[in-house]
Amino acid sequence: MNKQKERQEKILDIAKRRGFFWQTADIYGGVAGFYDYAHLGCALKRKWENLWRDFFIGLNDNFYEIETCVMMPEAVFRASGHLKSFVDPVVKCSKCKTIFRADHIIKSVLKKDYEGFSPEELMKIIKEHNIVCPGCGGRFEEAGVLNMMFPVDVGTGKETRKAYLLPETAQGAYLNFKQEFECLRKKFPLGLAIIGKAFRNEISPRNVLIRMREFTQAELQIFFNPKKINEHPDFESVKEFKLRLFPVANREKNEIMEVSCEDAVNKLGLPKFYVYHMAKIQEFYTKVLGLSKDIFRFKELSEEERAFYNKYHWDIELFLESLDGFKEVAGIHYRTDHDLSGHQKVSGQSMEVNIDGETFVPHVLELSFGVDRNIYALFELALKEEEERIVLVFPRLVSPYDAGVFPLVSKDRLPEKAKEVFRFLKESGFSVFYDETGSIGRRYRRIDEVGVPAGITIDYESLEDETVTIRDRDSMKQIRVSISELPVVLRRFLAGESLGKLGKPVN
Ligand code: AMP
Repeated sequence: MNKQKERQEKILDIAKRRGFFWQTADIYGGVAGFYDYAHLGCALKRKWENLWRDFFIGLNDNFYEIETCVMMPEAVFRASGHLKSFVDPVVKCSKCKTIFRADHIIKSVLKKDYEGFSPEELMKIIKEHNIVCPGCGGRFEEAGVLNMMFPVDVGTGKETRKAYLLPETAQGAYLNFKQEFECLRKKFPLGLAIIGKAFRNEISPRNVLIRMREFTQAELQIFFNPKKINEHPDFESVKEFKLRLFPVANREKNEIMEVSCEDAVNKLGLPKFYVYHMAKIQEFYTKVLGLSKDIFRFKELSEEERAFYNKYHWDIELFLESLDGFKEVAGIHYRTDHDLSGHQKVSGQSMEVNIDGETFVPHVLELSFGVDRNIYALFELALKEEEERIVLVFPRLVSPYDAGVFPLVSKDRLPEKAKEVFRFLKESGFSVFYDETGSIGRRYRRIDEVGVPAGITIDYESLEDETVTIRDRDSMKQIRVSISELPVVLRRFLAGESLGKLGKPVN
């Protein structure tokens, strides 16, 4: 087994043993590309989603969250282009009849990306390099394409209608746009966010939560006037912010460059509206989540690689050891009026708006995040094997619990006092759990292994002077603070302040 696979196995093993995620329908052998979130994974995912909501929907007073159905009639996908173009290139083995994604098969042999190549081009490469079926050694037949959407029949008998599961949450926002625009007093830009399920019949689902068949997306569709793409009222605040960019031109030398937002506009020719949101995305990863900027980059996609509807398309990538390099976790896409114009044409309903005397079909900037990929990335980046412990150093704000509350021993009124503190923290809005079994050292190890950032212990001193100790998961250092101050101290600690500064150190 190679190093990456080994690391993936370890991630999956710990995720399963501790209660983060595992394969769906495990007792029936599972189905490739489907995963369930267990109690801790679900808590972690909710926290990530809530941070995303607060940050991205908070960018503008005219941004809102909506929820739409995941099953939509065929016409929607005729309009969006998915029926025709949401396809993967495939090849079939002439001997065992297994179907593979053509570009993936080539990449596994030649170790180079071939995304965006046509089936004909891929077949030519397969022939040139004599690439054969990895299962049985058979030759490949001509390459073709397979649509990735899941079809469903809605209704019965003569009433049956053909529908599809959404391959991206985005279409839900486009269909709701016009009505929301009317409800929301016709102001622009208007943002509609959806955190919801997407379904893709991936030919080769793999790498745990990275390539799934049912997954969660967090997407924000921003509708704006295309004439205003070169402005943003808040651009001044980001103009010196340094973006970490990996443009197509830098691929050969494999070099990430740091470019101020101002230079991204003036020298790289990217629109201000686009660049502003790039800065916000980078801020989300490096400031809100506190990830090191060294593992973050925007990767520009070439014209062949871009989704069929995108004019500007940069992926957001994080460096992940288990995937042997940078991996896409999100994207920022300028989709122009592709979707709204498509729906206008097929539905016959006007998607035009009139703002300040000007009539136009709005353009869309899409911020699209794969939630599961982000959870996988957080998990992998958090997993540290130290000499005497395994620890998950999640960013404090997304850890499944904010703190564990423990009586030093389970006697002498310490459990009663600890439960009092536990209830107090719960009522103050923290996610906490209580544990009194085993030695205190064992309980600290347990919270380390599930990534809880703070351990709060009630000891004999607590009974005398109403103070407790707080232990930091990462440094394992402790401070003593009074119970009444605990909510304020804990909040500051979760927001990123170092524990040492928040109370009296304990030796
Ligand atoms: P796309 O619409 O392909 O640009 O996808 C948007 C985001 O959804 C990507 O950046 C990924 O994070 C996520 N995503 C796409 N396909 C999958 C998949 N098969 N499994 C998990 N996440 C995915």
